[in-house]
Amino acid sequence: MLKDEDRIFQNLYNDSGADIESAKLRNDWSGTKEILEKGREWIINEVKSSELRGRGGAGFPTGLKWSFAPKEVGSRPHYLVINADESEPGTCKDRDIIRFEPHKLIEGCLIASYAVNAHKCYIYIRGEYFNEGQKLQTAIDEAYKNNLIGKNALNSGWDLDIYIHYGAGAYICGEETALLESLEGKKGQPRLKPPFPALIGLYGCPTIINNVETVAAVPTILRRGAKWFSSLGRPKNTGTKIYCISGNVNNPCNVEEEMGIPLKELIETHAGGVVGGWENLKAVIPGGSSMPMLPKEICDNMKMDFDACVEHNTGLGTAGIVVINKDQDIIKCMARIARFYKHESCGQCTPCREGSGWMWRMLERMAAGEATPEEVDMLFDVTKQIEGHTICAFGEGSSWPVQGLIRHFKDEILERNKFDPVVKKKKNIPYLVDQHLLEKENA
Ligand code: SF4
Repeated sequence: MLKDEDRIFQNLYNDSGADIESAKLRNDWSGTKEILEKGREWIINEVKSSELRGRGGAGFPTGLKWSFAPKEVGSRPHYLVINADESEPGTCKDRDIIRFEPHKLIEGCLIASYAVNAHKCYIYIRGEYFNEGQKLQTAIDEAYKNNLIGKNALNSGWDLDIYIHYGAGAYICGEETALLESLEGKKGQPRLKPPFPALIGLYGCPTIINNVETVAAVPTILRRGAKWFSSLGRPKNTGTKIYCISGNVNNPCNVEEEMGIPLKELIETHAGGVVGGWENLKAVIPGGSSMPMLPKEICDNMKMDFDACVEHNTGLGTAGIVVINKDQDIIKCMARIARFYKHESCGQCTPCREGSGWMWRMLERMAAGEATPEEVDMLFDVTKQIEGHTICAFGEGSSWPVQGLIRHFKDEILERNKFDPVVKKKKNIPYLVDQHLLEKENA
């Protein structure tokens, strides 16, 4: 278990205040000027050797991402954009950072902006986080007042302005290029990559986009040293992480823990255990709803870090752990998630736009026991036709959870959908159910 002194986010439960005085007592803003004085190269190399990976879902190495920003500023300004959209179901960690540890984020913005040569930083926050955004704005105002940001921030010679931008609540605006489109005032739809935002991003200028937790962790890493951070966890999976535990647990919570902590320990120690006991566990979605679920047999010994998740055909994602116990109808749960993705597809790519609706309707039929056994393989085939054939990772995000269901619970789906050709033909069930669902959707 992580020692208290190794926790980066000391105020995750708002035991002390979020104001600047309380933040300084927690060591925020201490030695920040000295960090800047060490120079861009030192900062980027230190973040690289800490092996910090992005906490927003993709897990891309942060130092490497920063090094993609052009070394010199040319005719176009550089931008830093913070992704605070946090729309992945099961995830609510950035929210607590924004409202309880805003100064960690602002300090991280100053250091990151300096490292990537950006004088402007935009924090794109989901519209539903209005109250949190107000708290963040208060902290930004405090930082301006104390010369921590703004003109000649901390007397370092560096100018930085931070702006908050509220999104309107579309899931896809959490995808970095859709976020940029939205920030530019356009419809939030992902861009084709390449070009990547590090070279052509916001307003066609070099832009580095980072998640809230990633940037908020940077000041502590630089203060305590890359060695300290990388001593936690294991190589390429270093440091601490905020896990969000929800679903059928006795005490849903956010908790900062060491990377690689066993999943069972996380749930039992911090979330009060599975409702009905560990033996009542059916499955766990380990990284937000876009990651494939894992059955209890795997959860028994599973460790929670990037590589361990990949070994089990899933992903750490945002570390939004959704616990599903045996009281739930697992097929129905997945149908519900599929409906969410159908609703949130931006519609640019045919496989995603059409496929997400197909998956949802097929799963509804399977949940109701009105599908044929052949359709189970057909559904898997549909997921494979979406995966890898779309502009953005939403294609994978919508099809992986369905693959996870079929991979681990195919027998259960088949059992519920035993073939009875006479009855099904007579009732023409697939048509009726589709029609019924469409009417419900259009109502
Ligand atoms: Fe839009 Fe889906 Fe294509 Fe992403 S994969 S661009 S969400 S249609």
